[in-house]
Amino acid sequence: MFQKILVANRGEIAVRIIRACKEMNIETVAVYSDVDKDSLHVQLADEAVCIGSRQSKDSYLHMENIISAAIQKKAEAIHPGFGFLSENAKFVELCESCNIAFIGPSSTVIENMGNKANARALMIEAGVPVVPGSDAKVKSYEDAVKIANEVGFPLLIKASAGGGGRGIKLANSMDEFERAYHMARNESRVAFNDDAVYIERYLIHPKHIEFQILADKYGHVVHLGERDCSLQRRNQKVIEEAPSLLEDALRIEMGECAVRAAEYVHYENAGTIEFLVEDGAFYFIEMNTRIQVEHPVTEMITGIDLIQEQIKIAAGEELSFKQKDIVFDGHAIECRINAEDPKNNFAPSPTKVTGLHVPGGFHVRMDSFLYTGYQISPYYDSMIGKLIVKGKTRKEAILKMQSALSELIIHGVKTNQSFCEMILRHPMVQEYQFDTKFLEQKMNVLLEYDDE
Ligand code: ADP
Ligand code: ADP
Ligand code: MG
Repeated sequence: MFQKILVANRGEIAVRIIRACKEMNIETVAVYSDVDKDSLHVQLADEAVCIGSRQSKDSYLHMENIISAAIQKKAEAIHPGFGFLSENAKFVELCESCNIAFIGPSSTVIENMGNKANARALMIEAGVPVVPGSDAKVKSYEDAVKIANEVGFPLLIKASAGGGGRGIKLANSMDEFERAYHMARNESRVAFNDDAVYIERYLIHPKHIEFQILADKYGHVVHLGERDCSLQRRNQKVIEEAPSLLEDALRIEMGECAVRAAEYVHYENAGTIEFLVEDGAFYFIEMNTRIQVEHPVTEMITGIDLIQEQIKIAAGEELSFKQKDIVFDGHAIECRINAEDPKNNFAPSPTKVTGLHVPGGFHVRMDSFLYTGYQISPYYDSMIGKLIVKGKTRKEAILKMQSALSELIIHGVKTNQSFCEMILRHPMVQEYQFDTKFLEQKMNVLLEYDDE
C-alpha cells in the first residue's frame, strides 16, 4: 500500500480523499493556490504545498508544479478528485513517466473514453446502444450541416471534450443550427481548449441513469448499481438518488451493458457509465473516467467506500468482492449545496461563512469544506457541500433529507438550500415522476418560497 498520497484538488472532494487516506493510515500532501491557504483541505492534510496563484491554470491545472510537489514530498501516488486534471490524459502520462501512480485509469483509457466523441465510437463498436447521431467526427461546418440533416431535429451539438454541462447547445431546426454550432465550439474552446464537436439527437423527456463501475488491474469488473441524476439545471445535476425505480429487467440489462462497456475498453479503477433512458430504451451518453460528485449515494446503499477502493486498485490490490457479493440496502439522496442565489438567476455568492450548523443523525452525512469564518473563493466552483441521507425507503429518505435541510444553517452565504427543499416537496418528485427537463419546466413554482 502507498505510504503517502498527494491530493491534486481542493474543496470538499480534497477533504473527502484526505479522510479516506487517514482511515487507511496513509499520509497526505495537500496542494493549494495562494487564495486557498486557509482552506480546510490544507489544514487536514499532513503536509501542504502552494502550487501557484488563484487562476486554475496557474495552480490546480499546472501539471509541472503538481508533479514537482509530489516528487519533493516523496508522494508515491496522486489522487486527482473530479474536475481539474482528473480526465487529462497528458497529466496521467506525466505521472506515468515520473513513476507516480495516478489513482484512476491509464492515459490510454482516458484518451479513449474521456473524449466523448471517441467514447461514442468505441461504444458503437462494443455493441452498446448510443443516442442516434454522428458516427464520424464533424470535420467542417458543411460536414456538420450534412450530419444534422441525417440525424434530424431537434439535435444537440456537443463538445467532445465537454463536461459539467458545458459545451452543449440545442438546435430545434436548421434555422438555429449555425448559431448553435458556433456557440458550442466557442464555449468548448474557452472552457476546454478544444473545439471538436459531435452531434446527437435531442431526446425530449429522458431520465439520466448512470452506473458506478469498479475495475481492478486483473480484469475484474463489477457495477455498484445505478444513480438517478435526472434533477438537473442547465444539464448539471442538483439532486441525485440511488437506486432508481426502473423496472428490474431494464436495470439488470443496463448494469450488464455498463460492465461490458468497461470490459471492452480494459477499464481500470472507478468510473461511471452514463445513460439516458426514454420510453423503455437506454442510450449511452458518456463515461466519466473519475470519481463523481454524487458517489456518496452509492456508498450509502452498498456500504463500500469508493475512494478507498480507488486507492486499493491503484496500489495493485484485487477487488475483494464479486458482483454477487454486492448488496443494496435502502435508498439514498444527495443534495448539492451551492453558494448561489436562486432568486437572482443562481448568481454565485462567494461570501464569508459567519455561522454554521451542520445537521446530524442516523444515516445523515455532510461532505463539505466549510467552517465558521471561511471566506468562499470566487475563483472556483460554487459547490460548497453535499448533504447525503439514507432511509429504508425512498419516502423515508425524502423525509430525512427535508429534516436535514431544515436543520442546515449557513449564515452569511446565499445558498440553494430552499430550492432543494422546494424540489423535494413537489408531488411529482415525491411520486418519482420527473425527467431531465423537470427542473427547468417547473422553475417558476420551485422558486416561490419565502426566504425568511
Ligand atoms: P459529475 O459528473 O461528477 O456528476 P459534474 O459533471 O458536475 O459532476 O463535474 C464535477 C466537477 O468537475 C464540476 O466541478 C465540473 O465543473 C467539473 N468538470 C466536469 N467535467 C469536466 C471537464 N471535462 N473539464 C473540467 N472540469 C470538469
Ligand atoms: P457532461 O459531460 O457535461 O456531463 P453529458 O453528455 O453527460 O455532458 O450530458 C449532460 C446532460 O445533458 C445529460 O444528463 C442530459 O440531461 C443532457 N443531455 C445530454 N445529451 C442529451 C441528449 N442527446 N438528449 C437530451 N438530453 C441530453
Ligand atoms: Mg455527464
